[in-house]
Amino acid sequence: MSELDAPESTKPVFDRRKVVVVFVLGGPGAGKGTQCVKLVNEFRFSHLSAGDLLRAEQNREGSEFGELIRTCIREGNIVPMEITVKLLENAMKAEIEKNNGAEGWTDGRGRFLIDGFPRKMDQAIKFGEEVCVASLVLFFTTTEGIMLHRLLERGKTSGREDDNVESIRKRFNTYKEQTMPVVKYYAELGKVAEIDSSRSIDEVYRDAAQWMRKILNKDS
Ligand code: UDP
Ligand code: MG
Repeated sequence: MSELDAPESTKPVFDRRKVVVVFVLGGPGAGKGTQCVKLVNEFRFSHLSAGDLLRAEQNREGSEFGELIRTCIREGNIVPMEITVKLLENAMKAEIEKNNGAEGWTDGRGRFLIDGFPRKMDQAIKFGEEVCVASLVLFFTTTEGIMLHRLLERGKTSGREDDNVESIRKRFNTYKEQTMPVVKYYAELGKVAEIDSSRSIDEVYRDAAQWMRKILNKDS
């Protein structure tokens, strides 16, 4: 079936010619969030962290998913994809409305860094079919030793229920078993920018920024 024959409901909500989506992947503690904050400052992307959206939903009064999300996060498991995909879609719509008129954001346009997503193949497929096709995956990679050290440091102040050794071990397993196949899938499509994030924040950023320049020139 060609794209034109597809029923309306199976088309992505956002047109990839207008909306640039960059996924940001890497193990827990690889530096995704840190680099996203810097990229947003320079390139006016909207930064949506799937984990942050899930934590907000978990704490939202009246949410029917609160307990389910809490358990998944503590156990290092992936929350059922329908929940996360819907939260992202809603957040994207809200950002497009909010930023309308800013550079890169006129007439339904938008640019998003989606941090910590997709972590599992089913999410990747569903997001591509229903929300938007991604342009690039920024993939931050370093050793488990470095990630563990960074997460334990972060855990001293983050207040996150999953920044403890037991949860971290489970998150590493989920990352290897569920998320690495996603990285491989996009690598086969030629969409992965792999960046060694063992280095200093500024060194890593230099590489990440270079990729962003490339993608923005190509798509605009
Ligand atoms: N999570 C999920 N689906 C996602 C993203 C996150 O279920 O698409 C859950 C998962 O349990 C994960 C936790 O949220 O371990 C924390 O994710 P976050 O991205 O905040 O962790 P980070 O990679 O920043 O350490
Ligand atoms: Mg993060």
